[in-house]
Amino acid sequence: MSTASHGSPGNRETILEPDTYYACQRCTACCKWPGDVRLENEEIPRVAAFLDLSETEFLNRYTRLRTNRQGLSLLEKENHECIMLDGNSCRIHAVKPSQCAGFPNRWNFPGWRQVCEAKAIPMEEARQRGLTK
Ligand code: SF4
Ligand code: SF4
Repeated sequence: MSTASHGSPGNRETILEPDTYYACQRCTACCKWPGDVRLENEEIPRVAAFLDLSETEFLNRYTRLRTNRQGLSLLEKENHECIMLDGNSCRIHAVKPSQCAGFPNRWNFPGWRQVCEAKAIPMEEARQRGLTK
């Protein structure tokens, strides 16, 4: 995230609000903020395989250095949308980076609820509905 943007993942194992689960409503706002969509090294093989590309092809076609040059980011389009956003869908939803999967339950930022339509659900109910997997 060169600006506040897609966000800055902290500890992705930690649920920030253990009693509440925020269920993504696929509004796609977080796929349109300017900035890095961090791609971790261990995520590269599964995303490449999902797209039926070699790792080299995937890296050349869809990634760039992060703004801080400390790792890779997915590319963005000219309008700052993530390169993987296709209409209202993520092309790599099943294998999306942990930065994407972790928002807003594992990382977020002050004021995030003003820009994200995720719906608050009691954690127990979310678990019963299988939403937390
Ligand atoms: S901004 Fe929130 S509701 Fe919208 S796609 Fe991202 S996580 Fe889901
Ligand atoms: S990889 Fe998918 S979920 Fe993540 S920012 Fe791009 S379009 Fe959105």
